[in-house]
Amino acid sequence: MSIINIAIDGPSGSGKSTAAKNLAARLGIEYIDTGAMYRAVAYKSIQAGVELEDAAIEKMLEDTEIDFVNGNIYLDGENVNGMIRTLEVSAKASAVSALPSCRTKLVEIQRKIAASKSVVMDGRDIASNVLPNATHKFFVTCDLDIRADRRYAELQEKGESVSRDDVRADLAQRDHNDSTRKLNPLRKADDAIEIATDHISIPEVTELLVSYIEK
Ligand code: C5P
Repeated sequence: MSIINIAIDGPSGSGKSTAAKNLAARLGIEYIDTGAMYRAVAYKSIQAGVELEDAAIEKMLEDTEIDFVNGNIYLDGENVNGMIRTLEVSAKASAVSALPSCRTKLVEIQRKIAASKSVVMDGRDIASNVLPNATHKFFVTCDLDIRADRRYAELQEKGESVSRDDVRADLAQRDHNDSTRKLNPLRKADDAIEIATDHISIPEVTELLVSYIEK
C-alpha cells in the first residue's frame, strides 16, 4: 500500500488536534502531534534549566530523543504526554519554536516519520514547510474567543487552576508569535482546504475531513 500523508495546520484550540486524531483512527494510520514535540523540547528546557537561546537549545538537542509510540510522545525514553499541556509549557513551546536549531531538528524528525509510514500530522507549518507534497492539506480556523472557551474547559477538566482570561491571553500571544515569526510561520498553504470550526462540532469536523479525502 502506498504511503499517504495528511497535513492539518491551524492555531491552538481550533479543534485540529482532536479532529486529526479521530481522522487517523478512522483511517487506521498514525497521528503525529508536532505541537507535542515543541512542547517536549520546552518541557526539557524548563526541567534542565536551559536558557531559551539558539546555541543552548542546539546543545541540549544533541542529547535529546523525541519519539511517538502509540500516539504518546516520548522524551528521552519517558512518556511525557501528561506533563506538557500546562500554560507554562505552552508559552515556552511558542518561544522555543522560533529558534532555528529547534525547528531544524524537529522538522527533520517529522519528515523522517512521514516518509516511513502513512500519517495524519498536525501543526503550524506542516503543509507549507514540512510536507509540501502531502496527499491532503487542511487549514483549520476558529475565532479566538471560541478557542479560549474550548481550551479553558479542557484545562479545567484536567484540574489545572487557570483563569479563562489567562487562557485567552496565552492563545492570543501564541497566535501572534506563531504567525509573525520569521521561520516557517503559521499560514495557510495555497493549496490547503480551509475549514472554519466556529459553528461545528469536532465529530462534524472529522466527517468533513473524511468527505474531502474520499472525494
Ligand atoms: O499545537 P500546540 O498548541 O500544542 O503547539 C505548541 C506550540 O508549538 C505552538 O504554539 C507553536 O509555537 C509551536 N508549533 C510550531 N510548529 C508546529 C507545531 C507547533 O511552531 N508545527
